[in-house]
Amino acid sequence: MTLVDTRTPDPRKFISGLTGDWEIVIGMEVHAQVLSEAKLFSGASTEFGSEPNDNVSLVDAAMPGMLPVINEECVRQAVRTGLGLKAAINNRSVFDRKNYFYPDLPQGYQISQFKDPIVGEGIVLVSVGPDSKGQFDEIEVGVERLHLEQDAGKSLHDQHPTMSFVDLNRSGVALMEIVSKPDMRSADEAKAYLTKLRTILRYLGTCDGNMDEGSMRADVNVSVRRPGGAFGTRCEIKNVNSIRFVGQAIESEARRQIALIEDGGTVDQETRLFDPVKGETRAMRSKEDAHDYRYFPDPDLLPLEFDDAFVDSLRSALPELPDDKRQRLMETAGLSAYDASILVSEKAIADFFEKTAAGRDAKQAANWVINDLLGALNKSGKSIEETPVSADQLGAILDLIRAETISGKIAKDLFEIVWSEGGDPRELVETRGMKQVTDTGAIEKAVDEIIAANPDKVAQAQAKPTLAGWFVGQVMRAMGGKANPQAVNDIVKAKLGLE
Ligand code: ADP
Ligand code: MG
Repeated sequence: MTLVDTRTPDPRKFISGLTGDWEIVIGMEVHAQVLSEAKLFSGASTEFGSEPNDNVSLVDAAMPGMLPVINEECVRQAVRTGLGLKAAINNRSVFDRKNYFYPDLPQGYQISQFKDPIVGEGIVLVSVGPDSKGQFDEIEVGVERLHLEQDAGKSLHDQHPTMSFVDLNRSGVALMEIVSKPDMRSADEAKAYLTKLRTILRYLGTCDGNMDEGSMRADVNVSVRRPGGAFGTRCEIKNVNSIRFVGQAIESEARRQIALIEDGGTVDQETRLFDPVKGETRAMRSKEDAHDYRYFPDPDLLPLEFDDAFVDSLRSALPELPDDKRQRLMETAGLSAYDASILVSEKAIADFFEKTAAGRDAKQAANWVINDLLGALNKSGKSIEETPVSADQLGAILDLIRAETISGKIAKDLFEIVWSEGGDPRELVETRGMKQVTDTGAIEKAVDEIIAANPDKVAQAQAKPTLAGWFVGQVMRAMGGKANPQAVNDIVKAKLGLE
């Protein structure tokens, strides 16, 4: 590919070395396992966690005479993904054989797409941050291409003292390789890109994005250069399997390259591995080139062709994607770009928010979901799927605030009770006696008592009206926090003769 620089150098992203500033350049190749029942060219199951070699057909084991048959659902998933990446869809693409030997590759070649991939150039909008300085950026990362290919099997070296075993369950499973342009300039940007890509795939339902199950893996290409200068030589860090490790691998690899160059050396283009325990990368092999693989069109498969109607039907059935959802939340619910970005960042969070906000004040619902719910989830290390407070329960709390049955402050206590004990917020308010007192008689009585007991404070407040707040606080405390704050305020001012 021809490299084009799409970014203006940003000093906030520079790394300082001994001889001046450096800029990191990152491009990623992400392997995303297609969500499908069956493999790319066989009817074997793709289920995760089966016994070794349970999901292997004669095609996957490359028995003589077996022929691949394309799985149309995998084609649909690749096209949907291309549309979600705002990419060009190629109505004609070609499957090629990529030839190499590996014990977990019984065919002796991987069926992939080389010159003519199913999806061409696209774009991913990425929100980065906020970082520790509160900086929140929006960047665009170009997609070079997306192609379909088979996964390989897995060698097991830890099952027997003298033998290795091969598990072919993954052999032939459909992967989408999504290749980015070298458009990222920091570890944070790369992490945010991968996160956004995963979000899009999950919204689309084309990949489950579970990196710990190997459904998504990233090859991370890293080079360094003087800010805005010519692209440097890159190293490719293979198969990084968590977003955190992607960040760590980039930082350590960039530092290694900078030290090497500053020491008078040069970077060799090579494939490296990230060691999460040591937190550094190490050389795996020198870089292979396309011609080493002897690519040629697979004679067992016709070129893959479909018409515009096929693409249009998939396009019209796409779900609302995070960028569109974010725009809608900003426009119709009046949310800030930042709040809306957080709410759409995971489909499950967006669904939770929309259910909570339905028929209610969207801004208030957004505040509660972001600050209280996500805050509590974060603190307890739980994901949105494990939330102890459902959207219905949070919605009920918001309704109680709106009806002035409880104050905002009591609502926080109620949220905590629902969080730790569960239950219907409406019933809890009754049984725990949390209802807000709007009965002015009761409030007046409490105000009278406090005024009577504190003549000195009365004189001070009458001289300096802002001191009335002290009385409001005392009344709220005397009434167990359950008095309607506005009513208390009004009555205190009236009784002190401040209005
Ligand atoms: P290959 O297929 O040989 O790995 P490509 O040219 O297709 O090589 O690029 C693979 C990935 O490497 C892409 O994601 C691309 O953005 C990235 N890349 C290419 N050049 C650089 C560079 N100088 N620095 C960082 N990343 C790069
Ligand atoms: Mg590569």
